Amino acid sequence: MINHIYALVTYSLEKNLIKKEDIDYAVNQLSYKTQIEPNVYIQQNIENQSFVELIEPILVHAIDIGLIDDSIQSKDNFESYLMDTFTMRPSCLQDTFASLDSKEATKFFYKLCQDNHYIKTERINKNKQYTYNSSYGDIFITINLSKPEKDPKTIAKLKHKKTSQYPACLLCKENIGYYGNISHPGRSNHRAISISLNNEPFFFQYSPYVYYNEHTIVFHKEHIPMKLSKKTFLRLFDFVDRFPHYFLGSNAGLPIIGGSILNHEHYQGGSADFPIQHAEVIKSYQLDNVKLELLKWPLSVIRLTSKDRETIIDISNKLRVFYENYSDESVDLIAKTNEQHNAITPIVRKESGTYIVDIALRNNRINEAYPDGIFHPHPDIHAIKKENIGLIEVMGLAILPGRLLSDLEEIQNVLDNQLKLAQKLSTYKDWVNTIIHNPEYSTKENIEQAVARTFVKGLEDCGVFKQTDNGIKHFKLFIEAFLNE
Ligand SMILES: [Zn+2]
Repeated sequence: MINHIYALVTYSLEKNLIKKEDIDYAVNQLSYKTQIEPNVYIQQNIENQSFVELIEPILVHAIDIGLIDDSIQSKDNFESYLMDTFTMRPSCLQDTFASLDSKEATKFFYKLCQDNHYIKTERINKNKQYTYNSSYGDIFITINLSKPEKDPKTIAKLKHKKTSQYPACLLCKENIGYYGNISHPGRSNHRAISISLNNEPFFFQYSPYVYYNEHTIVFHKEHIPMKLSKKTFLRLFDFVDRFPHYFLGSNAGLPIIGGSILNHEHYQGGSADFPIQHAEVIKSYQLDNVKLELLKWPLSVIRLTSKDRETIIDISNKLRVFYENYSDESVDLIAKTNEQHNAITPIVRKESGTYIVDIALRNNRINEAYPDGIFHPHPDIHAIKKENIGLIEVMGLAILPGRLLSDLEEIQNVLDNQLKLAQKLSTYKDWVNTIIHNPEYSTKENIEQAVARTFVKGLEDCGVFKQTDNGIKHFKLFIEAFLNE
């Protein structure tokens, strides 16, 4: 068995996770953690072996001797604990990160997160990705298979588990090095870098699920709720000034239109090309030295561009405040009833010294016809997507549930052989009826296109000013009211 530990040590040396001075330490630590008798290290030939192939025999051994049980959650937690042995201490990582220029620093940190298997690349590679050419340009679709479904055994155990308040949520800094349990993912090998934004304490980490290249999460040191204010812009701008090769955006701080975690202030960023960046412009305006553009996009998005940091922050924030109080009942847009409904999703990036701010206008009001949200994917979309449309999707990258992949195959089979839809697929009944009446439908390619088309329709549902003649007229009325204020 000890050879498997040696192999993991060889792997970590090759990946530069550890240095040769760390070999005995690593062998001893791993031996004790796995209850395998230690011995003097012998370098192994690990050519053509993936990380998973290297670690799997150790996990099987741990199950065999009763150290862990045979569930994905237990194995993941234990693996993270083993890989922590090869992962720099947070303070040491912080110093290394600080010693590099910003691009080198993120490159180094991202590689470390992959090499220590905090980011499980082989699971992410299982995701299905494709592009759909819509009337707004290309839209990217990802069917997400990388988040493991909970094992039935785990679900059974969860029934009897007491809920814990520590760590307070999945983002809190207390996750760093946390072993995890059946309901909380193992984060022994997780690391985050402390950074200052607007002179406030934040942390920088990568998402373990990597929905796009270098998917970054920036979270506040304290477990405080999401709140958009002028400070949001100051923080986002500080971030892109320090990491100009990354964008950073914030979800709206309200339910229905916000992200999945509202109780911890956080932002999402990264280094990827998103469809929204290539959106056409409907109309341009100028205010001081800031250009404002209305985009041809399913959601209502205004793009602000300028080299002048102070002015563009000032105008972005004024636009936020103006919109938060703006109603246009002729298009069902009501800023507040007894609670606030209007909010924005801002995304900031920097290109050759020029700041670009995309501001998506959102509203979370519900009514009798749309109890899930007037500006939320409508019921005809729910078979494909009923979760909140967050900032990643605002930018034109769909993250769709993993169940779709097998369900679509079955639906394809039903359609090809004119069978009856099985009971478990009944949620797709109406959706299938609409696609079979679409003349374009014929092959598997088209069922994926139908999914993408449905997603784009869901984005359009979120637009407060629709991309119709009337909607665009009211969109212009809004921006002109702001400019004339
Ligand atoms: Zn938290």
